[in-house]
Amino acid sequence: MYRYYYNINSSKKVLHLYGCHYLTNSKKKEYGEKHSLKKALNKGFTLCKHCFALQNRFFNEDKRISTYLIRYNYSCSCQKDCVEITTGNGRWKIVYAENKQSLELYHENKQIRSTDSLSRIQGYHDQKVSEYELNDILHYIYVHDGKRKLPPAKGTKRYKKLQKKQEFKARKESINNVLNLIDNLHINSSAI
Ligand SMILES: [Zn+2]
Repeated sequence: MYRYYYNINSSKKVLHLYGCHYLTNSKKKEYGEKHSLKKALNKGFTLCKHCFALQNRFFNEDKRISTYLIRYNYSCSCQKDCVEITTGNGRWKIVYAENKQSLELYHENKQIRSTDSLSRIQGYHDQKVSEYELNDILHYIYVHDGKRKLPPAKGTKRYKKLQKKQEFKARKESINNVLNLIDNLHINSSAI
């Protein structure tokens, strides 16, 4: 579970990540906890500009984020207002939405698109993903990439489609084998 902290003695409703010095420097150290960013933001909380700056956030929020990067062999580079993730299949950029609260995800274009000039990030298209937690964004990337790499699960449409394709291929091959056999018989008998 995620934890976000705020000073319960302050009238400002500002959320921080663990260890943020804006929180630990406050005189009365009494903290409240929130477990859902989305719910807290809906209740009028805002994000601390320091610890929620994307580059700080990426390294402070949760160990699970670095677990993702290591386990799936993603590389990550932090730029001023965006975090770039490179996976085996492509490149992604994570940015804050215009409201500075939720996160948006952009995927690198494999080909030039007519809608390119409309995109906030040139060369990338808006993946139309809106999440509050970094972890959810990484999970989306993992699922998106994984769908291409992993064989489809049994019982799914993709599985049945693949099976049909393989059966068709096998039938075609066996017919070809028989035809080749007949051809060879022909050649052998004419050589006698
Ligand atoms: Zn903070």
